[in-house]
Amino acid sequence: MTTIGVLALQGAVREHIRAIESVGAKAVAIKYKEELEDLDGLVLPGGESTTMRKLIDRYDMMPALRLFATSGKPMFGTCAGLILLANNIVDYKEPHVGVMGVEVERNSFGRQVDSFEVLLNLKGIGAEFPAVFIRAPHIVNVGEGVDVLGKYEGRIVLARDGQFLGCSFHPELTEDTRIMKYFVNMVKESKHSVLA
Ligand code: GLN
Repeated sequence: MTTIGVLALQGAVREHIRAIESVGAKAVAIKYKEELEDLDGLVLPGGESTTMRKLIDRYDMMPALRLFATSGKPMFGTCAGLILLANNIVDYKEPHVGVMGVEVERNSFGRQVDSFEVLLNLKGIGAEFPAVFIRAPHIVNVGEGVDVLGKYEGRIVLARDGQFLGCSFHPELTEDTRIMKYFVNMVKESKHSVLA
């Protein structure tokens, strides 16, 4: 059984749990660093990145999250979760977890239009994916070897850097499970390579 955790300090936790279960994997809400040990992959949900960072520090989870990344296990960040993973944030001196080779800018689709939905064609995932943006970041720059999987109005909104998948929008708020299926496949493939 493939077991995927959802960092459950703040944000859209329940929706991710439901999406993971609907593609046939086991989902666990993670509140303590010790719980990271038994997972095959981890989702960092949307919410508010600065609030989540404060809670990560309060519960002393940062070293365990970085260790999880070093172990090679897949991590999927949506919206605020993408901001947590990015190794560069525009106008910030330091990243948060800082493990994915992308630079992100927060709240980059304008404050007037806080949230909207569009259909996007995504590489490796398929056509017309309903993408819900809520005060979303976008990826300004990608490092070497990062695969750009989706763009909206010329801005990168979905990318993969090896074991890391990052998304500006909220796939868990729709019934379309194709991105979660893609992530669960990443997790299954990495389990095979660990066993081999
Ligand atoms: N604007 C939020 C942030 O900067 C992200 C919004 C979201 O996750 N929906 O953390």
